[in-house]
Parts: sequence; C-alpha cells; structure tokens
Amino acid sequence: MPVINRTKSLGLLAAAAVASALVPLSAATAEAAPAQPAGYAGSCPTAGTVTQGWHSGHDGVDIANTRGTPIYSTGAGTVIVSGTASGYGQWIRIRHDDGTVTEYGHMYERLVSVNQRVSGGQLIARMGSEGQSTGPHLHFEAHSSTSSTRGMNPGPYLAERGVSLPCTPGGSNPGTNFTTWGTSVRVRTDAKLNAAVVRTLTGPTPVNVTCQKRGDMVTAEGYSNDAWAYIPALGGFITNIYIDHKDAWLPGVPTC
Ligand SMILES: [Zn+2]
Repeated sequence: MPVINRTKSLGLLAAAAVASALVPLSAATAEAAPAQPAGYAGSCPTAGTVTQGWHSGHDGVDIANTRGTPIYSTGAGTVIVSGTASGYGQWIRIRHDDGTVTEYGHMYERLVSVNQRVSGGQLIARMGSEGQSTGPHLHFEAHSSTSSTRGMNPGPYLAERGVSLPCTPGGSNPGTNFTTWGTSVRVRTDAKLNAAVVRTLTGPTPVNVTCQKRGDMVTAEGYSNDAWAYIPALGGFITNIYIDHKDAWLPGVPTC
C-alpha cells in the first residue's frame, strides 16, 4: 500500500538509497537505534497483518485490518501532532519520554489532541484508509527525534521495547529494562519495608521491570518514594529510588 511521503525531497530519497547501498544494514540500524536503555515499555500499536515493511522509500510499516480497528500509542508520551495531512489523510505524532517519536497515518478517526499526555497502550485512533491508501491500514513510523526526517526501521525499535510484529494489543507484558544504582539494594517479596529480603544487589544491576505499585514510603539517598518496581527474575520488588531513572513513577510501566 504505497504512501506518498510528505517530508522528503527526491534528493533526500536518492541520498538515502545511496547510503543504504553503501552501509551494511546492521551498521545503519545501529546508528538509527536510540541509546539504550529504552525509555519505555512498548505496546502493540494495532492488531493486523503486516502488508509492507520498512525499506528505502517506505519509512514505516503497514499493518492492515478492518476499518475501525483500535490503534494504540506504543509508549507514554505527549501528542505533538494530531490533524490532517496530504498523503496520510490524518496523522498523529507522539514524542516519547526518551525523545523518540512515533507516527501514525491513514486513520479515519483521531481520539487525541495536541499537547495531550498519553500512556503506552492508550487508544489514540481508529484505523482507516484516508489519504493515499488502497485499503484500511495503519502506517506506523518511528523516529529518533523530532528533527528526524527519515523513519528508522520500526522492527528493531519496537523489539527494543518488547514488541514484535504482528502483535496483540494488551497482550503479554514483556517488561522494561532498567539498571539499578547504589549498593546494598534489597529485593523484597512485597512493596513493604517489613517484607522478606530475597536478594541484595551489591552494585548497578540490569533489571527487567514488568510492573510497579505503591507500597511503603521509602526515604533514601535524599529521595522519598512509595513506588516499587517488580522484577520477576529477582523474585521481588525494589524501591523505585534505586531504579536509574529520573521519574519516581516509571513511565510506560503498568501498575501491578
Ligand atoms: Zn505505509
């Protein structure tokens, strides 16, 4: 399902074609990928069949389904575009908390407005065939930043956030990768200070967080926070204070 791209000149497309011919795909992908760790847990953008992948001249992926199929934000962020556009008919762009941008096109109905805060997995639109389109589908793009003019490969981008296409909205929760900081970080069986300690982390440790919840207020390292992260691989919870992230409540991580 071809889409007329509204952002690129023929010159840019030609340059991109030359670049992709000269640069090994793995190197190009590594350059385009955001710095790790991923800033949010991914969510499936929509259910359907992948009818066109990412390639030179097609900066995104097409996922086809029936008109009206729900479309979801792939992560927490702020809506920066919600309106009409030639080629897309209608489009939405969301700037996520790690600076990356996702883009959604061809919807027949938009349910969010500019400056609106959205969570990962939040319903934002319904699938349509508006603009340059031959049937109902979502055109999905991922960009490294708001200044990016060329979408990166959505496959690795979503994979870093735990989503592989085709996907099921609201399906399995792959968790989000973070790193702890500090020493003597206790993993407890519950989000309570009197819960049993199952393990103690002696230094920075990679952790996969699947959910978080409110528990006992903890004051440490100059912070107070009652949010705790659940780490299945460690069999328990640690206070979010020791998750290396600026937000007290981790963006994109669901409530336990
Ligand atoms: Zn497309």
